[in-house]
Amino acid sequence: MSRTSADERLDSLNPATGDVVGSHPVHGAAEVEAAVARARAASGWWAGLGPDGRKEVLDQWRGVITRRMGQLGDLVHQETGKPHGDAQLEIALAIDHLAWVGSHAGKVLGRRRVSPGLLLANQAATVEYLPYGVVGVIGPWNYPVFTPMGSIAYALGAGNTVVFKPSELTPGVGVWLADSLREVVPDRDLLQVVTGYGETGAALCRSGVDKVAFTGSTATGKKVMATCAERLTPVVIEAGGKDALLVDADADLEAAADAAAWGAFANAGQTCAGVERIYVHERVHDRFVEVLAEKARSVHAGTDAEAKLGPMTMAGQLDVVRRHVEDALARGGRAVIGGADAVGDRYVQPTVLVDVPEDSEAVTEETFGPTVTVRRVRSMEEAVELTNAGKYGLGSAIFTADTDRAEELARRLRTGMTSINSVISFAGVPNLPFGGVGDSGFGRIHGADGLREFTYAKAVTRTRFKAPLNLTTFERTAEQDTMVATLLTALHGRASQLPKLPRRPLAALRDRRGSR
Ligand code: NDP
Repeated sequence: MSRTSADERLDSLNPATGDVVGSHPVHGAAEVEAAVARARAASGWWAGLGPDGRKEVLDQWRGVITRRMGQLGDLVHQETGKPHGDAQLEIALAIDHLAWVGSHAGKVLGRRRVSPGLLLANQAATVEYLPYGVVGVIGPWNYPVFTPMGSIAYALGAGNTVVFKPSELTPGVGVWLADSLREVVPDRDLLQVVTGYGETGAALCRSGVDKVAFTGSTATGKKVMATCAERLTPVVIEAGGKDALLVDADADLEAAADAAAWGAFANAGQTCAGVERIYVHERVHDRFVEVLAEKARSVHAGTDAEAKLGPMTMAGQLDVVRRHVEDALARGGRAVIGGADAVGDRYVQPTVLVDVPEDSEAVTEETFGPTVTVRRVRSMEEAVELTNAGKYGLGSAIFTADTDRAEELARRLRTGMTSINSVISFAGVPNLPFGGVGDSGFGRIHGADGLREFTYAKAVTRTRFKAPLNLTTFERTAEQDTMVATLLTALHGRASQLPKLPRRPLAALRDRRGSR
């Protein structure tokens, strides 16, 4: 039975107290389709404003959000349970992205000339990136402002209108965002929110939107993709992660442990690109674990003013965290701090696990709680191998004093993003694309790639003069075909011969083969 009757309501609850924060309609397929139709009606006007006109609107919207940051932060705090400071941080990052979108969309997406090449030298060739029309955004609850805004701001900036389905746990935040944009543009449906459960999200996938941007778990991402396949609706999937932090022997251990603690425990560990496993060089492993444990001891989850961690937003996640910790301990792991008792009714205290087998769930599956595993490795080569053995590939981090070496290691880590000597910094740099590989999904939000994700490339050629060698006519003669062959041989014939590689790469190749 579908839970989408017209008068059904959805209450969002404060996870710390159980209090009702707000009540929202459960939108069914008909309401979702109506919202998409309204978005479609507004899309021509919005696209027609062009990047400068859209920048003006997005700048005003940014002003509204900034001025009401406290109000929005309160709502985020109430619906997710996260501390006010953390709520403000995610809002601040979203505002910064919004500013970047406004000032870069024209340059990134605007029409530019490209070389037509020798064979079609009589053509003028241009490419530009045009909006799809209406984009459906489906978002999670863990960063209810920052995460969906990574899609919403970029989709709007690229000239699309948006229908947004927030998580059932954070519908109020979604409604707040749409209302704040409506204050700037009251009479156009640029951003609408549909609220409800998974069925509402599925209805959005089937509604005829031109693209779906999904952020959530890998399992739901697969369902979204399957539903979108029914209409060949393109998707971007930002899914879960199991991010690793690598600590080399020469790393600043204090800085590495500090970043590891924040990356693993902040937001009660409910961060897609949070640190969930740590690989430490054997020479500094024991000292690193000591410093990390000290850091872990200095933070706790609770309701008191000093608590840096809030409750688990989704009660069901407590079972997953408990299962991962208990399994790790049963299979020979040891809790340096925390452990099975750290998982309470609403709160989980920071937990650091060592000696956990690599094939246990605490290492292979997303835990999404304030827990982390630490493993001793002989070298960074081994750390890279273990990191890449996982099925997820969202973010990663490396701590070392040798930044050249770090850059080289970063390229070998099969993750969409890597921070060197910090954690998760890539998410706050609007110029950088955000997204993963493998079970972490595909497609990109943020940066120029994030803008292009919500467009289609439009290629145009224009004949500038009559070509001496016209390829696209039945009038083409055998002599002209011979001329084409001669020209091609002159241009590309030598490419088929073995290239002369410079000495060093060849030597490197031999070394690598030799070491296998
Ligand atoms: P879910 O996958 O449970 O839900 C995500 C969204 O999808 C929600 O709005 C949900 O609605 C909706 N949904 C559920 N079922 C369907 C369906 N069949 N069709 C369409 N939509 C559906 O994820 P969570 O909300 O629990 O978020 C946590 C997950 O998000 C973690 O795995 C985390 O790693 C990931 N994440 C990834 C990020 C990234 O950028 N890669 C960033 C942030 C989080 P409802 O809530 O009403 O069920």
